Amino acid sequence: MGYTDLLSEQLPGKLNEKQLRYIGEINSSGKFLLSLINDLLDMSKIDAGAMELELEDVSIDELINGMVSMMSRQFVKKKIKVKIIIEPELSVVMADLRKCKQILMNLLTNALKFTPKDGRVEICAVSDGDSGVKIEVRDTGIGIAEDKIDKIFSEFYQAENVIDEQLGGTGIGLALTRRLVELHDGKIGVESKLGKGSTFWFTLPLKKLPREKSSEQKEVGKVLKENGVFPTGRRILIVEDNERNLAMTVEMLEVHNHQVVVARNGQEAIEMAKQHKPELILMDIRMPVMDGLEATQRLRAIPEFVNTPIIAMTASTGAEAEKTYLAKGCTAHLAKPIHVKQLYAVLKKYLSVEN
Ligand code: ADP
Repeated sequence: MGYTDLLSEQLPGKLNEKQLRYIGEINSSGKFLLSLINDLLDMSKIDAGAMELELEDVSIDELINGMVSMMSRQFVKKKIKVKIIIEPELSVVMADLRKCKQILMNLLTNALKFTPKDGRVEICAVSDGDSGVKIEVRDTGIGIAEDKIDKIFSEFYQAENVIDEQLGGTGIGLALTRRLVELHDGKIGVESKLGKGSTFWFTLPLKKLPREKSSEQKEVGKVLKENGVFPTGRRILIVEDNERNLAMTVEMLEVHNHQVVVARNGQEAIEMAKQHKPELILMDIRMPVMDGLEATQRLRAIPEFVNTPIIAMTASTGAEAEKTYLAKGCTAHLAKPIHVKQLYAVLKKYLSVEN
């Protein structure tokens, strides 16, 4: 997908219209597969008891508004009216933000998918007992037959076969959503009338915490919006043990003529850094011989690398993981799969003239 990114930006050279369309198809099919694989991995991880919650303060109001605005174009396109009703005191709760987004995204995607044109979708959040919240997603869609309602949270179940076939889908969205809610010790359910619509609801039994603002992510977004010249010809060390990822990241860097050196584990990274004195290091975390965090810590102990930007590259995201990287001396974090735009934004931010 990184390569399709490179091609569709026409960085290696100009493409004709048909080629661009094909690349677009490969990219969107790749994205679909990636999200399917991620959903399946998440499900197995939860079933194996290996999925942990990364709790942080989540504003219900920001969560709902954020997800709705992310999907607003699709709702507008289908002429579906969206209404948000949020009880005023529901400010911030402790939850895993990424998983809450996944839960809401799945329910909103279904509401969009199963509600015909000119319909209505309402998202409603109220307090649930002493400490929790209840979030409902109501739609005026096709509804679910009574005899099928019990099964829709099961894996690979699709109730409306004809419509499901037309619209695509895999029948794992709700199975995963249920697991994500239960992981939070919440409950999930649905009330529905065939032909009238459905109301999916879930609860998050969580304690409220004072609001606190912090988001490294927002900063990356800000940089992305600033169009402008990217740094070129700088000395960059990539530390990565996976040959495919390595080759792709090198290609992305060569577009801007960076002088790239590579290392395949933490130990090599330290040697290469001493030898080539990179201006920035892209550091994979999980590697043989010596992992990226250990290598980062050791580099930070060497005076000439105290201020060198070290960007952790991993598939694990979330506030907890990020805190660990930063605590061990990394400057920032790039989520895998690496996207051209995010990589360039990070380079622009940390390879500015002052650095
Ligand atoms: P899929 O990926 O197929 O959408 P889900 O697990 O999300 O899988 O949903 C399972 C099935 O439940 C769907 O195929 C559909 O038949 C039914 N369903 C889910 N949400 C709705 C909804 N809002 N209205 C009507 N039917 C729904």
